[in-house]
Amino acid sequence: MKREKQTRLVGPNQRIKMHILGSAGDVSGSLFLFEYSTPEKTLRFLLECGLHQEDEGINRQKRLPKGIEASDINFVIISHAHIDHSGWLPALVKDGFKGSVYTHPATRDLLTFLLPDSGRLQAMAAERSNKRLLKRQKQSAGTPSARKTSRIPKSIPLYTEEDTVKCFPLIKAINYNQLYNVADGVQLRFTEASHILGAAVVTITMGKGEDARSVCFTGNVGRPGTPMLKELEPIKRADYVISESTYGNKLHQKRDRLTILADIINKAHARAVVKGHDTGCGAIIIPAFAVGRVQTILHDLRLLMLAKRIPNIATYLDSKMAIAATEVHRKWASLYNDETRAIFERGEDAFSPPRFVEVKDARVSNRLFEKASEPIIIVGSSGMAAGGKILLHLEKRLPNANNTVIFVGYQGTGALGYDLVNKKPKQVRVHGEVIPVRATIEYMSDYSGHADYEEIIAWMRKFEAKPKKTFLVHGDGGALETFQGHIEKALGWTVVVPQRRQCFELT
Ligand SMILES: [Zn+2]
Repeated sequence: MKREKQTRLVGPNQRIKMHILGSAGDVSGSLFLFEYSTPEKTLRFLLECGLHQEDEGINRQKRLPKGIEASDINFVIISHAHIDHSGWLPALVKDGFKGSVYTHPATRDLLTFLLPDSGRLQAMAAERSNKRLLKRQKQSAGTPSARKTSRIPKSIPLYTEEDTVKCFPLIKAINYNQLYNVADGVQLRFTEASHILGAAVVTITMGKGEDARSVCFTGNVGRPGTPMLKELEPIKRADYVISESTYGNKLHQKRDRLTILADIINKAHARAVVKGHDTGCGAIIIPAFAVGRVQTILHDLRLLMLAKRIPNIATYLDSKMAIAATEVHRKWASLYNDETRAIFERGEDAFSPPRFVEVKDARVSNRLFEKASEPIIIVGSSGMAAGGKILLHLEKRLPNANNTVIFVGYQGTGALGYDLVNKKPKQVRVHGEVIPVRATIEYMSDYSGHADYEEIIAWMRKFEAKPKKTFLVHGDGGALETFQGHIEKALGWTVVVPQRRQCFELT
């Protein structure tokens, strides 16, 4: 009895604690720890295992609560493949985590190349930092600060590509709409999130019978009518809800994306047919995120070309990562909405416009830099033009007025894409060179993968009973508080905006 009083058990036999360890007050590094205790045992599991991409330093801090190590975690649940939800997993495994990782099979397939790529980026970042350190040490040699700089330790990557390989045998794939017993007293169900391929809304139930408590985590949820994907699945009830809040204080423009894209492409094509002196015809360059956005763009270009709403322009996909991601998107055609599934069922490929080339050979890629006899479309990865091959194409094409660059996703400050879209610069620096910008820069916000606050509230409205409490995460400062107000006003729910490292008892 004494113990019961001290620990405020949910029922006579259990206690649930939830630690908010990431994406609190910001949109990166999703990480939640649950401790589910019965008199016999305590199970500890992570919901999400995201890399913090906005503040890299956080990934190297002790992210788990004091006294809890990676080896104490029994299992991990990952809602979707984006690195800010999955990319800390290799660090956890490197630190001694040996349990199972539950995720959708399509997410598992996407992680097989996203995690190694993240490992390569970590190694490159460490190498860059060590080069800078070596330069500083050389410059300070013989000066009073020499001893200080010589004591700065070399950077080691958070994890490498090799480290990521150890994650894959741990993954146990879970389909949508099935109830899985993942541990004694813990059940898990994934439902469609309509965010990216394989993305799930995660419902976890802890305890049995009257003691059972459920937590519904939105992960990231997409908009109604998201291209290709099925609609966000309604949830009937949960004791607790954890909701993303990316667009907690914003509403999307409601307009027909295909009409906008057709208009932009037609104007871009009219510019591109004009031959430059040395460069030939112009190009339409579309930098897009390799997973999800590239496939949606290819899908839309194909639709518009087949409907003769835009000309049949030769379309090149010039990114190894995007080609691999597109292959996974073909494999999981069964997950799409009726319209997109029907394309595959007819034996056609929804991601291949009529004159489509996946650039797997460097010689083909190099030909794209030569004088063109007709307008071309180049789709490449790095949606913010932050690195990779797309930069080479921009370096070549930005100086000429017959080229167009269409950005189709979120642009973070500091990225080349952000500057081109928001600052309208006359020149930019690419690979250290100053490049004049004469190409037309377009931006479409219509491809957002996140529902706005009205759209999430419409999904919440379908709950048959009010949850005990709703936690708002994955939003910037202003978005969280504004969203809290919107939900309280529209639904009368009890809503809290948690801080990082805050712990809640789920009673
Ligand atoms: Zn996401």
